[in-house]
Amino acid sequence: MWQVFVKTAPIGLLTFVFIWVLARLIAQPLRQLAETANTLDRPSTSLELTQIRSWYFESNELRKAMLRGVGLLHSKIGLLRQEAQTDPLTCLHNRRSLDMQLSHFIEQRCPFAILAIDIDHFKRVNDEYGHDIGDVVLQSLAKILLDVTRDGDVVARTGGEEFIVIMPKVEAKRAYQLAERLRMRISESFINPVGCINVSIGISGWHLEQLSLEEVFKLADQALYKAKKTGRNRCVVDGSYYKELTPISDTPVLE
Ligand code: GH3
Ligand code: MG
Ligand code: MG
Repeated sequence: MWQVFVKTAPIGLLTFVFIWVLARLIAQPLRQLAETANTLDRPSTSLELTQIRSWYFESNELRKAMLRGVGLLHSKIGLLRQEAQTDPLTCLHNRRSLDMQLSHFIEQRCPFAILAIDIDHFKRVNDEYGHDIGDVVLQSLAKILLDVTRDGDVVARTGGEEFIVIMPKVEAKRAYQLAERLRMRISESFINPVGCINVSIGISGWHLEQLSLEEVFKLADQALYKAKKTGRNRCVVDGSYYKELTPISDTPVLE
């Protein structure tokens, strides 16, 4: 028995080592796939999956299936993210997306002007032509806003007939000029079948001083309110935003 054991032991040991190495080689891609499966939502997952050496048929099929799943998951996430940040009627930024962009500007310490835009007597449009035509007017206005603003500006629809335009690195005087250009362009654009509409615009801005976002929005709203109260179809600049800058004659300023 001893002799049989001595003669077969090396073969047995070799077989054991061979099985152990083979088992490790088979398990390795499975272990890597399982580790990657724990972090499927990471943007680098697809790259990590392609780098796994799936050397035998079954693990390769598993990897291909995971790659397909990750592709679908990421496109769904992208779509949902876009939907969550877009106003469905006008395809402009919505409030959530606007807040994200503003946080980014504040983090970067980038000053910006805020234009709070509200359509004048929009209720009359709905009453006279119906809600659907009202929607067409909102879409047309969104197109005009995108047309007149620059690439780096942020155009958002924040309420029914209320829009916000953010202009980074624009000071008060220039913001007023751009708002006036915008207002005039809107009042000259014919929107079928309603004709021309007017807007009132309140202008405020964020410098590097200690004003919170809420305060800046409130000041823009107050300026808009003044534009409405003083006859509509006009732009009013918030006084605190404007006062440090060279006055333009006859610019309406909210003190
Ligand atoms: P003002 O000049 O004072 O702003 O008057 P206004 O009529 O524009 O303002 P008001 O706030 O009285 O009316 C806003 C109207 O906007 C009322 C509502 O029916 C309409 N509205 C809000 N959201 C939508 C929308 O998504 N589509 C359409 N078609 N109308 C909307
Ligand atoms: Mg309104
Ligand atoms: Mg209105």
